[in-house]
Amino acid sequence: MDSTTLDIIILGSGTSTGIPVVGCDCAVCRSTDPRNQRTRCSALLSHAGHNILIDTSTDLRWQALREDIRHVDAVLYTHSHADHLHGIDDLRGFNLRSKEPIPLYGSTRTLERVRDNFSYIFDDIENPGYVPRLSLFPVEATFALFDLLITPIPLLHGRMQAFGYRCGPFAYLTDCNEIPEASLQLLQGLDLLVLDGLRFKPHTTHFNIAQAVQMAERIGAKQTLLTHLSHEVDHPRDNPQLPATIEFAYDGQRFSLPLPTEAIRSRRDRQP
Ligand SMILES: [Zn+2]
Ligand SMILES: [Zn+2]
Ligand SMILES: [Zn+2]
Repeated sequence: MDSTTLDIIILGSGTSTGIPVVGCDCAVCRSTDPRNQRTRCSALLSHAGHNILIDTSTDLRWQALREDIRHVDAVLYTHSHADHLHGIDDLRGFNLRSKEPIPLYGSTRTLERVRDNFSYIFDDIENPGYVPRLSLFPVEATFALFDLLITPIPLLHGRMQAFGYRCGPFAYLTDCNEIPEASLQLLQGLDLLVLDGLRFKPHTTHFNIAQAVQMAERIGAKQTLLTHLSHEVDHPRDNPQLPATIEFAYDGQRFSLPLPTEAIRSRRDRQP
């Protein structure tokens, strides 16, 4: 665990159905190439021994087993759609190991939906051992999490607002079809960008691939991964068609980025 690097695992690169899609016989859903088998969209950030999960996907348990994730120290929620949230009950397994509540971060609106949709977690005081122990922390501007500075990036996902997150040279922007100008200002100088690029056909709440490529080129990260992919995307067939700095994400993909000092909260900023 190097305190100057940020490690990233793409836990899931798939759209809300997961790929293969139940009952679908298309070439991608029948493909044996592991890059065409996609669990629901999520990522893990690790820094100095802390694991930060982005979203609790419907496939969280399987993703944690597959990547041997032993602890989760915080969750950043992008928004409250089921594919990003409904694995929340599986946080309980991490509570049982750590004996500590897990802090959840997100917009006020997203965390209200978490509380309303999963009221049994927050209201069931009679059976505390059978529900996850979670605490809610609404955020709207840059905040410190462990030693990392995290910036929420407001995005438009149809008529809904979703958050992306930036941490040093890395940004994760899933579920969006528009990035406001003020948010683009927060995305300069990235080494690695993960961006929604659902499918080739247009969609009302997600960038399609042509739009995502155009946006990736405008943001200008050194490397961009397109995620939240549908079964229209055949990785071995379609990946070579993308521009050189852009590629399709796949489950289990790993990166390690050096963190500049401004991405890490300095010792003198810390509370005693
Ligand atoms: Zn299919
Ligand atoms: Zn969504
Ligand atoms: Zn989604």
